Amino acid sequence: MAEVKLVHVAKAYENGPRVIRDATITVQDREFLVLVGPSGCGKSTLLRMIAGLEDITDGDLLIDGKRMNDVPPKDRDIAMVFQNYALYPHMTVYENMAFGLKLAGLPKDDIRQRVSRAAHLLEIDALLNRKPKDMSGGQRQRVAIGRAIVRNPKVFLFDEPLSNLDAKLRVQTRIELQKLHRELNATIIYVTHDQVEAMTLGDRIVVLRDGDVVQQDTPINLYNQP
Ligand code: ADP
Ligand code: ADP
Repeated sequence: MAEVKLVHVAKAYENGPRVIRDATITVQDREFLVLVGPSGCGKSTLLRMIAGLEDITDGDLLIDGKRMNDVPPKDRDIAMVFQNYALYPHMTVYENMAFGLKLAGLPKDDIRQRVSRAAHLLEIDALLNRKPKDMSGGQRQRVAIGRAIVRNPKVFLFDEPLSNLDAKLRVQTRIELQKLHRELNATIIYVTHDQVEAMTLGDRIVVLRDGDVVQQDTPINLYNQP
């Protein structure tokens, strides 16, 4: 169970202007919420605040009603997937997925089970002994998603995960993400500047412009608006 709530959230970097002005968004438990908007409108900033990688200047982040503003990232039960994969090049796929769990001190059997389950879900079982340099972009992105899945987080944050893939792989991976969402039973917040991705993936879409929420609705309602 994970409901994510931003209440009157604002963000200014250093002494700069507010790049998020006043964002109030509720993401329901197990919802697939897409944040869409032009480059520079504050999508990544919002995601990084939810992950705890950036301080919140004003307002509150609540997860299941609990205020999370000051909780360190590792204690938030949130996993983030970036657009550039961020895999460790010298490690195999297995080691990449197991690394964080090892650091957290999980027993080896537990780690092995979690990695196999994630590898199976993502259909990368056959790649476990490969290194990132011997894989395609699509395969690398699956490993990056696998690294998030093994943590069993309540919330997944995706920051433009498909933008480095070619058109065909983008469509394929998009379809797989929908399937994954159903299987994971998790709350997903997904950032993109691609309208088609937003329309096809989102249970609901939040449109950001210059640091403000300008629309939030289901794809069908947004589509039918003049
Ligand atoms: P988006 O993800 O929608 O492209 P960002 O959240 O990356 O937007 O950026 C929103 C605004 O915040 C932009 O004006 C950007 O230049 C600024 N910004 C992003 N990161 C930083 C930072 N670390 N320091 C200062 N300004 C930043
Ligand atoms: P360490 O080097 O600390 O022993 P490893 O990460 O090499 O740990 O391996 C941890 C466990 O995971 C080992 O029991 C190993 O058999 C298993 N393991 C490692 N690589 C794979 C793999 N590609 N597929 C399945 N199990 C693996």
